[in-house]
Amino acid sequence: MQTLALSDSYGRVARDLRVSLTDKCNLRCTYCMPAEGLDWLSNDALLTDDEIVRLITVGVERLGIREVRFTGGEPLVRRGVVDIVSRVHALADAPEMSITTNALGLARTAGALAAAGLDRVNVSLDTVRPETFEAITRRDRFHDVVAGLAAAQDAGLGPVKVNAVLMRGVNDDQASELLDWCLERGYELRFIEQMPLDAQHGWTRDGMITADEILAHLSATHTLSPALEPRGSAPAELFTVDGGPGTVGVIASVTRPFCGDCDRVRLTADGQVRNCLFARDESDLRGALRAGADDADLARRWVTAMAGKLPGHGIDDPTFLQPDRPMSAIGG
Ligand code: SAM
Ligand code: SF4
Repeated sequence: MQTLALSDSYGRVARDLRVSLTDKCNLRCTYCMPAEGLDWLSNDALLTDDEIVRLITVGVERLGIREVRFTGGEPLVRRGVVDIVSRVHALADAPEMSITTNALGLARTAGALAAAGLDRVNVSLDTVRPETFEAITRRDRFHDVVAGLAAAQDAGLGPVKVNAVLMRGVNDDQASELLDWCLERGYELRFIEQMPLDAQHGWTRDGMITADEILAHLSATHTLSPALEPRGSAPAELFTVDGGPGTVGVIASVTRPFCGDCDRVRLTADGQVRNCLFARDESDLRGALRAGADDADLARRWVTAMAGKLPGHGIDDPTFLQPDRPMSAIGG
């Protein structure tokens, strides 16, 4: 079988596939979506479990994909998630698999996900105060997330990573508290700069807590030193905390973009390839697949979709336009 590479005209090669399993979610994080939710994709528009597994198989067998991360919306609300993981794990050259989740329901499914072949989880948690959690997510579910994290750790889905977004006047004074809580439990915390990808278009540059601010907050209580391990294509800049072994990461997508080292490609829940989180164009694999395209044809279309990847996200460019599809319908 001929193997192609998902390369672009700037010499980058995508090997890390982010698959959104659904655009639906059981939380309503204010930086992500409005209180009333969104117009969800119809069932017909969503890829079926078989279609998802087929496209991932094309990526792994023909296009050099080595890592698959499932995301959402909230990936655990998709009923077939354990089965999808298990079928991808059964591929001859199975990729590393992880999931980015809000952890609701993870206490129940962590064991099954690990048994199906999932390697790791990233859990999104922005605060360890139940009342702040409810203010951010608009749901009183803090303790479910804590239980989900513990279950993931017990199931061997580690190292468990925690993703946090800080918001001015909401939880930006809680960075050190969250770090201490994660260090005590052996979770690896990474702060993500808020990006202009919210459905409500409420992002402003002044409102965003920058990497510099995050590091200043943390440095008030901890000694941070740049970690020695090479960063490669990883989005997080890592720091050891108080001499280690604990670390903290900062994903400064806006103020310190890492587009030049990007090795990611995204597949939406309705079967569109996005060559960048911020892409304004998508390539429709679902239509081709349902029209009877064979695997070699799907692979060629995917290669074409990647070739046009832009050098950077252009947030700082005056002509920047937020993509039509919000973060919850792309996945993190
Ligand atoms: N529902 C899952 C979760 O929350 O982990 C997966 C999907 S969510 C869109 C993936 C990640 O994107 C989460 O860590 C979330 O905090 C982050 N996120 C959502 N909106 C964001 C924004 N506007 N800027 C930066 N990160 C954002
Ligand atoms: Fe849901 Fe994740 Fe968006 Fe929060 S960040 S609303 S958990 S998709």
